[in-house]
Amino acid sequence: MSDCLFCKICEGKIPATITYRDDDVVAFQDIGPKAPFHQLVIPTRHIASLTQAKPEDAALLGKLMLVASKLAGEAGHGNSGFRVVMNAGPDAGQTVFHVHLHVLAGRSFGWPPG
Ligand code: 5GP
Ligand code: ZN
Repeated sequence: MSDCLFCKICEGKIPATITYRDDDVVAFQDIGPKAPFHQLVIPTRHIASLTQAKPEDAALLGKLMLVASKLAGEAGHGNSGFRVVMNAGPDAGQTVFHVHLHVLAGRSFGWPPG
């Protein structure tokens, strides 16, 4: 989508610190990290929100999780643990409407979330 921030990051039109890329998925550092390790994992194909996802998106959404685990593990957070979060819709606090998985690590996290 031409006016989507994360599509522009995928296309290299807006700079980001890219940590992973393949045909389906891109990961990059969050610009406002909420933990010592905070990356976003997104599909290269625009899906506005998990609320819009379709059955045919299942494999792609699953791949986001596997890339998240790979990145956290490679950064040394496999044993200590990490958190994956996907905000979907306004009550969850979604602000960028291109599906993205937050991957957070490097500190302890509270539960329930705020
Ligand atoms: P949401 O609130 O939609 O779940 O998360 C959006 C995330 O995108 C936030 O954590 C925010 O810091 C991050 N973000 C917003 N704009 C940019 C940007 O231009 N570059 C990067 N790398 N992250 C961004
Ligand atoms: Zn997009």
